[in-house]
Amino acid sequence: MTLFHLFPGGIHPHEGKNGKAVTKTLPITELPQPTRVVIPLQQHIGAPCRCLVQKGDVVKIGMKIGEPVGFVSAAVHASVSGKVVDVRHCIMANGLEAECVIIDNDFQDTWVPLHPVANPDQLDATSLSALAREMGLVGLGGATFPHAVKFSPPKDKVVDTLIINGAECEPYLAADYHLMLTYAKEILSGAKLIQRALKIERILIGIENDKMDAVEAMKQACGDDAAVQVFALPTRYPQGGEKQLTFALTKRVVKSGGLPLDCGVVVANVGSCYALHRAAYEGRPLVDRVVTVSGTVEKPANYLVRIGTPVEWLLDTSGGLLPETKVLIYGGPMMGLPLSRTDIPVTKGCSGITALGKSSALTQESNCIHCGRCSDVCPMRLVPSMLDKLMRKDMYEECERQGVMNCIECGACTWSCPAKRHLTQSCRTSKRVITERRRKQAQAQKEEM
Ligand code: SF4
Ligand code: SF4
Repeated sequence: MTLFHLFPGGIHPHEGKNGKAVTKTLPITELPQPTRVVIPLQQHIGAPCRCLVQKGDVVKIGMKIGEPVGFVSAAVHASVSGKVVDVRHCIMANGLEAECVIIDNDFQDTWVPLHPVANPDQLDATSLSALAREMGLVGLGGATFPHAVKFSPPKDKVVDTLIINGAECEPYLAADYHLMLTYAKEILSGAKLIQRALKIERILIGIENDKMDAVEAMKQACGDDAAVQVFALPTRYPQGGEKQLTFALTKRVVKSGGLPLDCGVVVANVGSCYALHRAAYEGRPLVDRVVTVSGTVEKPANYLVRIGTPVEWLLDTSGGLLPETKVLIYGGPMMGLPLSRTDIPVTKGCSGITALGKSSALTQESNCIHCGRCSDVCPMRLVPSMLDKLMRKDMYEECERQGVMNCIECGACTWSCPAKRHLTQSCRTSKRVITERRRKQAQAQKEEM
C-alpha cells in the first residue's frame, strides 16, 4: 500500500547520492579489520558501562568487556580478538572524553561461543529486554537509546503500533537502504520478535519513496502478513525523526517532552531490527554495523565496520579524501558532528562518515532579514530566529518557555536560512545550558534533603 503522508515543515536537501557520492548504488562490503580498535564503554544514552577487562587481558570477539550499569544502559563487547593494550579516556566525535578499551587485533578472528535463544518466538517483553541489554543493542539510527528500555514499556502504557524506521532521510547516507535490500527478511524477523513480545497489533514500515526498490524488498519479505504494512513516504527531511515518522504514519502527535510510547507507538530502526534478529537467532552481540563513507572521498562505499574502528582506517580504505575536502562529518551533513581529527572510533550510533567540499559551518553569518523561512521548515513548529536571538542574550529561561528543548537538532532551519545564521547551533547551546542547569538544581535539591 502506498500512501502520501506528511509531517509539518521539512526540507528537501541535495541527496548527495550521485557523482562521487554514489553510495546508494554500492552494496555492503566488509571493511578489512583494523590493527587496533578503540571501544568506548559508553555508546548509548545513559550510564557508561563498568569495565570488565584490564591491560594485558586476551579477548575474543563477542566477549563482554563492559557491564551495563543502571536501567538505561547496554553491554559493550570486543569487536576483534586480541590483547587489551590499554584502558583509558579517549576523545569521541562530540569532543568529549570517554573511557575506552583499546585492543590490538591478532587477526585470528576468534569468537566466544555463541548461544542463540532456544525459542525466539516465545520471548516475552522481559526476556527480550534482557537479551537487548546483554547483546548491547541500542538504536542504530543515531539516537543510541538502549533497546532494553524501549522493550520495557511501563505497565500503564498501551502500545498498539510498532513503526519500523527505514526512512534514512539524511543526505549521503545509504546504510539502511542497503540493509533493506540485502536483509529484508531478517529485518522483518527482528520486527516480529518485538511485535510478539510486546503484543503489538500492527507493524508499519516507513521508507522514503526515493528507495522504491527497498520498499519492494520489504513488501516481498512481508508477503501476505496482514499485520504489516509498508509505506512509501514522500522524500522529505527529517522524515526519519521519531516524532515526524510517528505523525506521518499514524497522525498521532508526540507531546512536548514526550516519547512515541506516550501515544501507543514503539519506533525501531531497520538496522536495530536486523541486530535484534542476529542476537536472538545467532546469539551474536552487536560488534559491527554498516557505515556509509561518502562525499569527497576517492572510493565511496557502504562498509560493514567493526565497532571501535578508527575513522582514519575507514578513510584510508576508501582511498583517502579528495583534495577539495573542507570538512569531515561524523554522520550525515544535516545532523552529523564536524570532526577535527580522524583518530575517533566508529561507535554503535555512527551511520556514516561524510566528507564535503564546502560546509555551512564555515559560512559567515549576516543579519536576520525576518523572512520566516526557518519557522516554515521547522518540523517541531519552533521559531528558530527568535530562539537564536534569545540564546545570544543568554535568555535561557525564555528559550525554555519557547520550547527549545523540543528542538530535534535536525538542521533544517540553518539549511534554509538565507542569512546563514547558525540557528541549530544556537538551539544546541541553549539545550546544553538548560540541561546543565537542571542537573545542578536536581543535585542541589538532593543535597538539601
Ligand atoms: S534544528 Fe531545531 S529549531 Fe531548527 S528546524 Fe530543526 S527542530 Fe527546528
Ligand atoms: S531564515 Fe534566517 S533570515 Fe529568515 S527569519 Fe530565519 S533567521 Fe532570519
